[in-house]
Amino acid sequence: MASYLYDLIARRAPSADKVFLETPEGRKLTYGDLAAGSARFAQALAKLGVVAGDRVAVQVEKSPEAILLYLACLRAGAVFLPLNTAYTPAEIDYFLGDAKPRVFVCDPASRDKLAAVAEKAGARIETLGVKEDGSLLDLARQQAATFADVERGKDDLAAILYTSGTTGRSKGAMLSHDNLASNALTLVDYWRFSKDDVLIHALPIYHTHGLFVAMNTLLLAGGSMFFLPKLDAELIMKLMPRATSMMGVPTFYVRLLQHAGLTKEATKHMRLFVSGSAPLLAETHREWRDRTGHAILERYGMTETNMNTSNPYAGDRVAGTVGFPLPGVSARVTDPDTGKPLPRGEIGMIEVKGPNVFKGYWQMPEKTKAEFREDGFFITGDLGKIDDKGYVHIVGRGKDLVITGGFNVYPIEVETEIDGMPGVVESAVVGLPHADFGEGVTAVVVPQKGAELDEKEIISALEQRLAKFKLPKRVLFVDELPRNTMGKVQKAALRQTYNDLYK
Ligand code: AMP
Repeated sequence: MASYLYDLIARRAPSADKVFLETPEGRKLTYGDLAAGSARFAQALAKLGVVAGDRVAVQVEKSPEAILLYLACLRAGAVFLPLNTAYTPAEIDYFLGDAKPRVFVCDPASRDKLAAVAEKAGARIETLGVKEDGSLLDLARQQAATFADVERGKDDLAAILYTSGTTGRSKGAMLSHDNLASNALTLVDYWRFSKDDVLIHALPIYHTHGLFVAMNTLLLAGGSMFFLPKLDAELIMKLMPRATSMMGVPTFYVRLLQHAGLTKEATKHMRLFVSGSAPLLAETHREWRDRTGHAILERYGMTETNMNTSNPYAGDRVAGTVGFPLPGVSARVTDPDTGKPLPRGEIGMIEVKGPNVFKGYWQMPEKTKAEFREDGFFITGDLGKIDDKGYVHIVGRGKDLVITGGFNVYPIEVETEIDGMPGVVESAVVGLPHADFGEGVTAVVVPQKGAELDEKEIISALEQRLAKFKLPKRVLFVDELPRNTMGKVQKAALRQTYNDLYK
């Protein structure tokens, strides 16, 4: 019996005593520890009644045990469902109600406030902390270090990752074992990862970037990683002489550029810097090259599709582009309305097809159907073009998504909360250029006549309802929103008017 993705990882694993990850405190986990620890967690999940196809929802802080739990889910045949640590109980309530997991694992400190939400969804609540603590770890410790993996094939689900929905409701992207395996194998080759690589991992592990792009790629290469709880420029600078590579969102590069120690000498042991999840400014690319001699390799992907395109390893890494479609991935640009392919150089909707593309949205067959063309291409929602050399450029987001510090914020979700507040007529949320975050979430609000609205009060009311990264950095008040003749709010005009707000 074998579970497809885990089996691939196990078969490619280097010797059991090779270190897979090291934490800043000096904790080390070897490949042997990964096999034994994930077996114990898989046993624990089986004890809790988890069977093939069951969802295991996980909202925990970043820890080595969280990685063991991810691998254990693969081995137990479960569907791993990571949730952003910033989500509030109100948000978790929606995810659990929608996904109906068998088990929900949260931080020990959150157990009390989430117990009722889990019970309502019929999920058993367990905990896993960062101090090698939690009820699930206690249970795992009592189990044998071997496990007969549950049979799972290429097309069986390995994970569900929720993406925000433009209509306000999040959608669960269903990812199969082969969606993840094929993409990670491609990245190992394309980015030339090997067992000699040591990756600086400072990304969150509830998102496709830190979990799949970084983790699966390093696992399938048999490499190692420095496992940081979060972005820490000082620590990254210290680790670079012992590392070979880093994957980050553009914010990482902006922050590191502010560090006086960033020089050619400081980065000479590194062979690769990868950026993605949001647009990397051409200016950042250039500055990085001047300071370090390295050209950042920018790539493009999304939760639903894993990685689609990448700048080349050996050829020109062109600033402001996301490179070529990866081997096995087809990309085209179409007329957003008709779906007809457009000639080279014209801007339209980016569509992709390949083994990397997800199986659809969890329990939303209609939405799934609407986002695929008849010939199997997935409509990404990103607007872009392919230039005459074949490089893909992303020029905007059809869905009005705001990306702040690498996190996606769908304006409608924030707008709905603000519109529900007393004294508010309506609101529009836009992303404005922000040196540190890429984009700053900004709310433009129309108050009712005579209503006394206060910026700080609105933000603090939203704090109770929304994850911190979704909160507006500023709330502005206007008499009316700009509209076109069809009555649609013109967000482009708002972005233009307030373009310099954070400059
Ligand atoms: P997510 O599902 O959170 O990974 O977000 C996916 C979205 O992030 C894509 O649809 C793009 O809009 C955006 N994105 C990812 N990588 C890039 C990139 N290199 N440049 C511009 N946008 C990107």
